[in-house]
Amino acid sequence: MKKLRIAIAGLTACSGCQLSLLNCEDELPVLLEMFDFQFFPMATSPALLADEYDAALVEGCISMPHEKELLQELRRRSRYLIALGTCAACGGVAALRNGDGRELLRQQVYGHSPVADETFDPIPLQSLVKVDAVVTGCPPEKEELLRMLAGLLRGALPVGIDYPVCTECRMRENLCLLTERDALCLGPLTLGGCGARCPSLSVPCEGCRGPVPEANLVEALEVYAQKGFDRTAVIGRLRRFCPEWKL
Ligand code: SF4
Ligand code: SF4
Repeated sequence: MKKLRIAIAGLTACSGCQLSLLNCEDELPVLLEMFDFQFFPMATSPALLADEYDAALVEGCISMPHEKELLQELRRRSRYLIALGTCAACGGVAALRNGDGRELLRQQVYGHSPVADETFDPIPLQSLVKVDAVVTGCPPEKEELLRMLAGLLRGALPVGIDYPVCTECRMRENLCLLTERDALCLGPLTLGGCGARCPSLSVPCEGCRGPVPEANLVEALEVYAQKGFDRTAVIGRLRRFCPEWKL
């Protein structure tokens, strides 16, 4: 069988999503039989971009001119472009301080160094190029990554999840931390797929997978208010992983 040609690139991010893939240690020998990771700077020696890829998996958001160029090149050369992780999907923690004003942040961190002049407010991939699919998470679950790769072998893109963490939490018959313990759990507004990892360990969901489609923010804020959480605190928590949340 012909191996699929894959490019894996990291933009502004912590590299955790790429690392999650490398952490699939048991599966790596099989993956290497089926995929040709032709461009993967984090894991292999630097390589020039090839003319074509079957898929490009891109981690992180865009905050530098050279990232724009790389992303556009990958888009141009790839049949599919897949956003890997919450930063790529909606900005994530890399865009956490977008609301604070670029100039102020630049001075606080870099002083007058010209390095910072090359950066701009982080934006998600879909702000610049067409994104064919998203595998969200901070980082994505290992099973999701393997499912996505298995799908690519069949020429299929991953099916987008459209339910919140609460759905999986209820399926696991967990105690609801919001209603029973008055904890600020962001599960109702957060995209599922993690198997309610945190609430299952009695830890409130932090919203690391970004917003669920058609999240009912108004209703959720009402419930949070009944539990004593004000809107600003809730939105502040939500914005740690997705700056698009607005009051
Ligand atoms: S604990 Fe959180 S994720 Fe689970 S049902 Fe309650 S609000 Fe939803
Ligand atoms: S429960 Fe919430 S914070 Fe925990 S992994 Fe899932 S989405 Fe992320």
